[in-house]
Amino acid sequence: MENISPALLNWFYENQRVLPFRTDPSPYHVWLSEIMLQQTRVSAALPYYERFLAALPDIPALAACEEEKLNKLWEGLGYYSRVRNLQKAARIVCEQYGGELPADYDAIRALPGIGDYTAGAICSISFGIPVPAVDGNVLRVFSRLYNDPGVITDPAVKKAFTVRVMEHQPPAAPGDYNQALMELGALVCVPNGAPLCEQCPLARLCQARAAGTALSLPQKAAPKARKLEDLTVALVESPAGFLIQQRPEKGLLAGLWQPLLWEGAAMTAEQLPAALTALGIHGITEAKPIPKAKHIFSHIEWRMTGYTVTVEAQPAPDGWIWATREQLQTEYTLPGAFKAYKKRLGLV
Ligand code: SF4
Repeated sequence: MENISPALLNWFYENQRVLPFRTDPSPYHVWLSEIMLQQTRVSAALPYYERFLAALPDIPALAACEEEKLNKLWEGLGYYSRVRNLQKAARIVCEQYGGELPADYDAIRALPGIGDYTAGAICSISFGIPVPAVDGNVLRVFSRLYNDPGVITDPAVKKAFTVRVMEHQPPAAPGDYNQALMELGALVCVPNGAPLCEQCPLARLCQARAAGTALSLPQKAAPKARKLEDLTVALVESPAGFLIQQRPEKGLLAGLWQPLLWEGAAMTAEQLPAALTALGIHGITEAKPIPKAKHIFSHIEWRMTGYTVTVEAQPAPDGWIWATREQLQTEYTLPGAFKAYKKRLGLV
């Protein structure tokens, strides 16, 4: 196949979206944007990106940020391990590299939360280092371009595709080339529905287009079934606020705050008073069921049975605190898994 980069780059220079991390592609900006965009659409991530940078304009500021503030800045994006890893990496960058990411692929790849793709994006876009940055968009484009039915979730297939990606990369413009491929995948060779081949600068070369197979590519392994878990959530309110507790430092939603909940059980209204009493919560004046809710993580689905509970004034049980609505807005982060309950509390 002839080299795709001239046609691809021409298209990119005319059609790329104007994005703040493209206008000012410093290593920190590219790093932050790539981490945010891992699970979030560009349009949804942009306000978070602007707000995050306004609060933490450089890597030393990120390294020094207090945990609750950091979680608040990430609130709504989900997958909080991403921001914890960002900070861990920022601290290493401050200790080892004077607060600036080094122009060194291996050193960047070794930082927490940075995989091949993110390291490749930072190095190629910010430092002009000729390395690949192969994400799902790029794999889709190459799968179609070569009409290759290889299963892209297979590491060996990804490696072979990466070799092809590099065969076309112009040494003078690795960052633009990598971004152009991602942009083509995001805007033209789209993941859901038919690709917009009539707008594609690679249409003349595309083997899937010629074969009429584009819609069936790329091939992916069937996703694993999610584990279903039942929970009971109680929004317990006293004159001092709502009862919340910080989750453990490790595991799902690590370090974030949650309302009172019992994992592994869908509790009936009859069972609830005894469960509350067992925790030392007394003086229940009202307990009412609220609609069931669910939250889907990548590998688990929570099915939540909920109650609102009103109690008399009392100290919080050990390990819990009463938080006012204002504190829940500004200080403590309840993750999106509890969105239905946050809505009920008027927090979203
Ligand atoms: S011609 Fe169509 S299928 Fe082929 S790369 Fe372009 S948009 Fe994708």
